[in-house]
Amino acid sequence: MSNKISETLTFECETGNYHTFCPISCVAWLYQKIEDSFFLVVGTKTCGYFLQNALGVMIFAEPRYAMAELEEGDISAQLNDYEELKRLCLQIKKDRNPSVIIWIGTCTTEIIKMDLEGMAPKLENELGIPIVVARANGLDYAFTQGEDTVLAAMAHRCPEQILLIERKKVIQDSNIQNLFSFLSLEKKEETTNKNFEKLKKNPPLVLFGSLPSTVASQLSSELKRQSVQVSGWLPAQRYTDLPSLGDQVYVCGVNPFLSRTATTLMRRRKCKLIGAPFPIGPDGTRAWIEKICSVFGIKTEGLEKREEQIWENLKDYLNLVRGKSVFFMGDNLLEISLARFLIRCGMIVYEIGIPYLDKRYQAAELSFLQNTCKNMSIPMPRIVEKPDNYNQIQRMRELKPDLAITGMAHANPLEARGINTKWSVEFTFAQIHGFTNARDVLELVTRPLRRNNNLENLGWSNLTKKETKNEI
Ligand code: SF4
Repeated sequence: MSNKISETLTFECETGNYHTFCPISCVAWLYQKIEDSFFLVVGTKTCGYFLQNALGVMIFAEPRYAMAELEEGDISAQLNDYEELKRLCLQIKKDRNPSVIIWIGTCTTEIIKMDLEGMAPKLENELGIPIVVARANGLDYAFTQGEDTVLAAMAHRCPEQILLIERKKVIQDSNIQNLFSFLSLEKKEETTNKNFEKLKKNPPLVLFGSLPSTVASQLSSELKRQSVQVSGWLPAQRYTDLPSLGDQVYVCGVNPFLSRTATTLMRRRKCKLIGAPFPIGPDGTRAWIEKICSVFGIKTEGLEKREEQIWENLKDYLNLVRGKSVFFMGDNLLEISLARFLIRCGMIVYEIGIPYLDKRYQAAELSFLQNTCKNMSIPMPRIVEKPDNYNQIQRMRELKPDLAITGMAHANPLEARGINTKWSVEFTFAQIHGFTNARDVLELVTRPLRRNNNLENLGWSNLTKKETKNEI
């Protein structure tokens, strides 16, 4: 393995010995997004401890998720799994009456081979509530990939597009008859024509990825400005509003960690995938919109100016980050998009650690990264899949980056050794998509730099004992 920074992107793969959140943490944001859902994590106390600690104060807000804690008897198959789950789900139905229950499989259910997928349809019939099974376990996935497994499972539950159009038509017909019975014929024609025009603009477009509603509507309206109608989101605000899918439907992702969902949408639901860079940073957002418009044969209007305006507003932050170096240890799969945005901001990226890289799903983002490096005349970063945190620390010792984006396990030890750090998990929970949120990304990135600038004069940047100077 060499530390040389080359002209093209270099991909490496290490041992996978790194820190990240368990994918079951996706319940934290998904239960908030899908308002009528309930998440049941079928696991052990280990999973329970993790959720309880990782989700912080959220656990006091009567969240719509719970643990089904497996006991000795479950694991040795002395108890009846089906009856146990039925008892719990009946209680959930009685207490919360959700529109869907999502079972989250964990490491233990994998190892003891609990047949969640087999039990779900039977219980679904008995209970009369849809039960979706997602295997978001720590054996196979990392952090944000939990959302990917849930959305991939949900993609199977989306209604078929053709059926829905027919149903809509029937409803529309009767509505039109009722509504327009007292209007003049002329007006009726006008309205129908308008609707027809709207539908004609572009084929159905479904965006996938869970975003806070405000961000989702910002992205939808950015597309609307270019006369692209978004026909639905996966997931929608409510489970009952899942978008309809079919072979006429175009789909486009908003997050880089949704490769399984993309595959399911293409292979199982026959949708057409639009492979675009992700709408993170003004550059990414513009490229994302341009790609969608180009697929629909629409010429974009005023996008360039809009991007310029956003960069103009970021000036104060850009002065802070320009020329600074950054090292992504890698734990949430947002790294490539964030690195590309930071390079465009004038930063130098030494290394992009990433838990898992689907080169096909991220193809557009990868080539965008490469072009950005060329345009900014900055050396290409190395991309390290399944990184080894120990090795990364050694590399950081040599490279001495101005900023390390890392998990909580390494943040304080690195700070004590004089390396600025930003806690990576914040990028998952902050609003980072679209034109207007670019400021928030830079707010996060520059926070440690601004803080340490303020504290510089105190002379306390390195807090380790002198004898240990060989370690960073
Ligand atoms: S890694 Fe496995 S055992 Fe640990 S919290 Fe996640 S699902 Fe549970």
